[in-house]
Amino acid sequence: MKAIALFSGGLDSTLAIKLMRDQGIEVLAININTGFGSTKDRREHMQNMCDQVGAELKIIDIQSEYLQEVLFDPKHGYGKNFNPCIDCHAKMFSVAKRIMEAEGASFLISGEVMGQRPMSQNKEALQTVLNESNCDGLLLRPMSAKMLAPTIAEINGWVDRERLEGITGRSRERQMELAKEIGLEDFESPGGGCLLTDENFSKKMVDFIKHDTFEVRDILVMKFGRHLRLSDGAKLIVGRNKEENEHLQNIENDKYYHIKTVGVPGPHAMLSKNASEADKYLATKAVLTYCKTTPENIYTLSYDEVEVQGSPFSSREEIQAFNIL
Ligand code: SF4
Repeated sequence: MKAIALFSGGLDSTLAIKLMRDQGIEVLAININTGFGSTKDRREHMQNMCDQVGAELKIIDIQSEYLQEVLFDPKHGYGKNFNPCIDCHAKMFSVAKRIMEAEGASFLISGEVMGQRPMSQNKEALQTVLNESNCDGLLLRPMSAKMLAPTIAEINGWVDRERLEGITGRSRERQMELAKEIGLEDFESPGGGCLLTDENFSKKMVDFIKHDTFEVRDILVMKFGRHLRLSDGAKLIVGRNKEENEHLQNIENDKYYHIKTVGVPGPHAMLSKNASEADKYLATKAVLTYCKTTPENIYTLSYDEVEVQGSPFSSREEIQAFNIL
């Protein structure tokens, strides 16, 4: 018997897998990458969790279909920020079902705990998700199973319901107990939602779609740096520290110039390639303002390969008006 696990890398989904493995069920853990999961690469962590509970891991990239079908026109609307949680979950379940059929697996599992997240994980929301994705009866939630109606896997006797959990609510007590019992190491305490639930990230998204068509290649651009919208509508991104500078430097997206300082240390920046001359002038001044420079002097920046001269603003306050955040 084989199950497909919707796997976040978090403690709950890891424990859910373990509860299946304890009953001799083979588990393929799939992590569905919408592109908005995290600014960090969590592959290693996820692999480590799967290794500890004996599951195979597959990362499924749905970035393109997520942008086309979910993010910008969610049937069930958004949560508090730019997060279309109900539609997003439904998409994840339908992707999981697709994989279940392709892999010859018999049912799905997830680490969801009833009542843990009021918005997306209450009973009604979950039922909507299951109906929308045609997964009703197929999805077993081992962590809360005893509090839920029996699913196909339990009814058919593939899984012993008595050996599952009945956890509800926000307390993590039982999860910690289980983690200790099985000697699970290096697990993460549960984070919030994805980047789309973040207020500042959402502001950047709202600003972006007012000015440009959002594409898969833009996802990475949104994750790093200080974001500014200049007078004529160009987007300027300025790295705020070494790590962000490195990330920005590695982005390949030909909608943007890569801007580097020449002769003075400074942040890595990116500017829309369709920027007007006035916005290029502003961008040069803004980037130089984040360097150790003085307004009396002239400095050089390279826009891709082309060198441009300019001077900084007299203070960072002059840039404030352009800050998206
Ligand atoms: S928090 Fe993000 S990944 Fe999770 S359901 Fe909501 S939109 Fe989807």
